[in-house]
Amino acid sequence: MDFQEIKQLDGEYLARTYARYPVALVGGKNATLVGSDGKEYIDFGAGIAVNIFGANDEEWKAAVIEQLGKIQHVSNYYYAEPQVRLARMLCERTGAKRVFFSNSGGEANECALKAARKYSYMKYGEGRSRIVSLKGSFHGRTLFTLTATGQEEFHRYFGPFIPDVAYAAPELGDVVRAAQGRACAVIIECVQGESGVNALPKDFVRSLAKWCADNDVLLICDEVQCGNGRCGTLYAYEQYGIAPDIVTTAKGLAGGLPIGACLFFERAQDAFSAGDHGSTFGGNPVSCAAAVNVITRLTPEFLLEVQGKAAYLRAKLKGFDGVKAVTGLGMMIGLVLEKNAKQVVAACLEKGLLVLTAHERLRIVPPLTITKTEMDEGLSVLKEVLK
Ligand SMILES: *Cc1c(COP(=O)(O)O)cnc(C)c1O
Repeated sequence: MDFQEIKQLDGEYLARTYARYPVALVGGKNATLVGSDGKEYIDFGAGIAVNIFGANDEEWKAAVIEQLGKIQHVSNYYYAEPQVRLARMLCERTGAKRVFFSNSGGEANECALKAARKYSYMKYGEGRSRIVSLKGSFHGRTLFTLTATGQEEFHRYFGPFIPDVAYAAPELGDVVRAAQGRACAVIIECVQGESGVNALPKDFVRSLAKWCADNDVLLICDEVQCGNGRCGTLYAYEQYGIAPDIVTTAKGLAGGLPIGACLFFERAQDAFSAGDHGSTFGGNPVSCAAAVNVITRLTPEFLLEVQGKAAYLRAKLKGFDGVKAVTGLGMMIGLVLEKNAKQVVAACLEKGLLVLTAHERLRIVPPLTITKTEMDEGLSVLKEVLK
């Protein structure tokens, strides 16, 4: 099919949920992608922080194909080796005690929120079901995670919402006010992605972690976007010097196959018992085999390289005309622009660069394997468009 045909059929047969850019991606290598018309694009988006080894990574592909040659799906009525391999790896790398696998970030958060309510119910009974989330947060599209998303614009049309969810500014006093002495959990993204790539202040996150521990309120870190090496450490919370009770992740975890994971640490490890939660596809062996390849390769040396690339990109971007500020952490980069971000994205696309927005900002989340040449090519397009 040529691009016009794809576009026409998309308009005719798909639900109208997405405003798409005028390109159909058909292939590529690492951070250089190819459109249906053969045009090449430098990829500063990696899907949305998903393809962390870019397109067509040989080692990742081999891991996926090897598992496909065995079996593609195993019901959770039975045991599966890729699941246990991945769960052990995640626990050993983070200190988590147990993992629940789902298929997406929203589901990983849904799991965390349900687990927090149960944890509190078993220990304190009713009346402590409140979830506190932060203004500007994004936690997913299921009704519970949508409710926990602290942005009004997502809430139109879909009420009534899940009761007992409150929103706070990123200040401890405001969290305590919102908790009203009856919270079971606070959910945060150390680096808020969707709302503009904002790293939360370290002082706030540390004081919040202490308050949560003192009051037996579970601290949930949503690392769906900022995790899996994106910010230069395996998980972003490591850079905050905190010990969360639950960590959720998804996007980059399997390098481009659907997966979600909810990691339970010491305090929360026994929240669920048999029958409390489940998922047909959760822990799919192909996704888990892909994620084992990802986590295995996110070594300290690899993460140092990511930090180096992030520093390089940030230094260059700071010097560009039209850039008012560079935000975020590591390879999760936000740009505050003088120009309109949507128009900048469209102009970049025209010139062969894929880049994302986050509200009024530009969001740059390339494959972690992006080469210096690819970075330089992308930067030169961006510089041209921004000036
Ligand atoms: C993308 C995202 C989600 C939702 O993940 P899905 O896989 O789309 O359900 C949740 N939290 C954060 C921080 C995200 O960036």
